[in-house]
Amino acid sequence: MPQIQVLPDYVINQIAAGEVIERPASAVKELVENSLDAGATQIKVSVKKGGKDLIQISDNGRGIEPEDIEKSVLRHATSKLRDASDLFKLSTNGFRGEALSSIASISKLVIESRTNAAIGIRAEFDGGVLKNREEAAIPVGTSISVNDLFFNAPVRAEFLKSDSVENSRILDCIIRLAMANENARFEYRADNRLLFCAAEGSLQARISDCLGASVARNLKEVEWEEFGVRVWGFVSSPESLEAGKRNLPYIFLQKRPIYNALIAKAINQAYSSYGDYSPVAVIFLDMPLETFDVNVHPAKREVRFSRDSLVFQAVNHAIHNALQNAISYPSISIVNTLRENSPAYIAESKADEGMGYGVWGIENKTQELFPDNRIIPFEDPLNPKPQTPNPIPHTPECLQIDKSYIICEQGQSMLIIDQHRAHKSILYERALQALQKGESLDGQELLFPETVEVPAVLSPILEEQKSELEKFGFHIEPFGYNTWQLRGIPAHLPLGSAGPAIIRFLESASESKESDIFKKNALSYANSSAIQRGMELSPQEMKTIVLDLLSLPNPYETPKGEAIFMKMPVEDIKRKF
Ligand code: ADP
Ligand code: MG
Repeated sequence: MPQIQVLPDYVINQIAAGEVIERPASAVKELVENSLDAGATQIKVSVKKGGKDLIQISDNGRGIEPEDIEKSVLRHATSKLRDASDLFKLSTNGFRGEALSSIASISKLVIESRTNAAIGIRAEFDGGVLKNREEAAIPVGTSISVNDLFFNAPVRAEFLKSDSVENSRILDCIIRLAMANENARFEYRADNRLLFCAAEGSLQARISDCLGASVARNLKEVEWEEFGVRVWGFVSSPESLEAGKRNLPYIFLQKRPIYNALIAKAINQAYSSYGDYSPVAVIFLDMPLETFDVNVHPAKREVRFSRDSLVFQAVNHAIHNALQNAISYPSISIVNTLRENSPAYIAESKADEGMGYGVWGIENKTQELFPDNRIIPFEDPLNPKPQTPNPIPHTPECLQIDKSYIICEQGQSMLIIDQHRAHKSILYERALQALQKGESLDGQELLFPETVEVPAVLSPILEEQKSELEKFGFHIEPFGYNTWQLRGIPAHLPLGSAGPAIIRFLESASESKESDIFKKNALSYANSSAIQRGMELSPQEMKTIVLDLLSLPNPYETPKGEAIFMKMPVEDIKRKF
C-alpha cells in the first residue's frame, strides 16, 4: 500500500503557523505590517489576556477588495508579489502570503474591511474555514480580530508566558514597527489600558515616545554613507553610557525591523574606547535591494547580506564618526594593570590562605582587620546614622580610586574592592534573607512624592512587579500614561537613584532565567539598587561596605560569580620594586 500522501491544506497551514506565529506578538507583528503595507496612517492594537483571548488591529489603510477577502486567508495568497524575480526587490513588509492563512488556521478570525467602495464586508473564519460573510457599514480600512489564538494548538499555548510578559513582547514589536514608521499614529491597549501611544512626528519624537524622553535627550545623530550602504539614526552619547546596562539595538533594514548580531557587534565595537558598553542605538540601513536577502526565515526577522564585512564597516564607521567630537573618558586603572599582569591577585576563592567560605574564615578575616573583633552594627553606606558613642577603634583606612574601587589594608595585604560588586552582594544577601523569612526591607516614605517615567515596554512588567518592589521599599502607584508616582523608596537609596533603580529592576526581572523566585527578585533588587561605579563615597561609607562585605558568607564573589576584590600581599608589592 502506498505510504506517502500530500497533506491537506489545513495541516500545511498549521505547520506554517508554527514557524510564523510563535506567540501573540508574532501575530501582532504580521497584522501591523499588513496595515502599514496597506498605507495606513493610523493603527490601533488592542489585546485581551496577553493576546491569547483577543488581538484586534484596526487601520485606515486602503482596505481589501470584497472579492479578495476569502483569498486573503489562503496560503501563499498575496497582493504584493507576482513572480520570483520580485522576491529580490521587495519594498513591502509582507510578501509570502503566509501570515493571514497561518493566523486563521489556529484561531477564530473576523475580517472587516472596506475599500473606497460604499459598503464594506465582514467575514468570519473558524480554523481558516469561512463561517459567515455579510455586508457591513464600516469606515474605510481594515479591522482584524483574532479570537482564541492557538485554540487548536494547545501545545503552543502551553509555552506562552504570563499575560504581562506577552503584553510586553507585543509592545516591543509595536515599538520596533513604530520607530520605523514615524508618519503613522499608533495606539496599543492591553485589557483596555492604554500602554503605548505615539502621534505622527519626527524620528526623534518617535524615539522619545518609545524609549522615554530622558533617553532621547542623550542621543547623537548618525548619518553616513559608504560602500553604497547608508547608515542613519541615533546612538547614545558617550557621556550617557551606563556601566553594566545591556541595551539591545534597534536595527532596521529598508525600514524593516531586523535582528542581526553582526550589526549589533559593529555598534558596540565603535564604543570600545570608552569601555565595554552596549549603548542605546536606533540604526537604519539602506542599501541596494539586490545586496541582501530577507527571505531566510518565514518571520522575516533574519537577513543575509551579500557582503557582510562592508556592512559591518559602514555601521562601525558611521558610529565612530558620530562620536568623534565627543569627550573621551579618563582611563585610570591600577586594577586593570594588576589584573593583566598578575592574574593571581584576582580575588582568590576557596584556596585563599587556607580559609574557606565558612564562618570561621570570615571571622578570621574580620579579626585581621579589627584585632579586637568588634564589629559595628550594620549601617547603610549611603544613609549613615549618627555616630554611636562607641565607634570602632581600628577601622581600616580606605581610599577610593576612580570613584569605583576601594583600597584598604588587610593584615599584610592590600585589598582592591570593586564597590559596585561588593554592595551588590551585600544587598543580595540582605534581601534574600528578608524574602525567605517573609519580611520586607526598610523603606522611607517620601514627603513629596516624585514621578518617574517608565519606558512603555516595561509598564506591563511594572504592573506585575509592583507588589514585589514594595517588599524592597519601593512604594509606587500608577500616575497617568507611562508615569508612576514614587511614594516610598528603599532606606539606603538616594532619591535621584530610585527611578533608574526601578527601571533596572524591571529589566533584570524580565530577563532573568533564575527559577527560584526569592533569588531572582533579590538579585534584581541588588543589581538595580547597588551603588554604581563612578559614585564618590565618604570614608565612613567605604568602611561600612568593607565591614559588611567581610561579614558575608561568601565575600569573594557576587551571586553571579564575579570576583569582588583582589588581594596583593605586601611581599609581592616589595617584589615589584
Ligand atoms: P502578505 O502580507 O505576505 O501578502 P498576508 O497573509 O499577511 O500576506 O496577507 C494576505 C493579503 O491580504 C495581503 O497581500 C493583502 O492583500 C491583504 N491584507 C491583509 N491585511 C490587510 C490590511 N490590513 N489592509 C489591506 N489589505 C490587507
Ligand atoms: Mg503580511
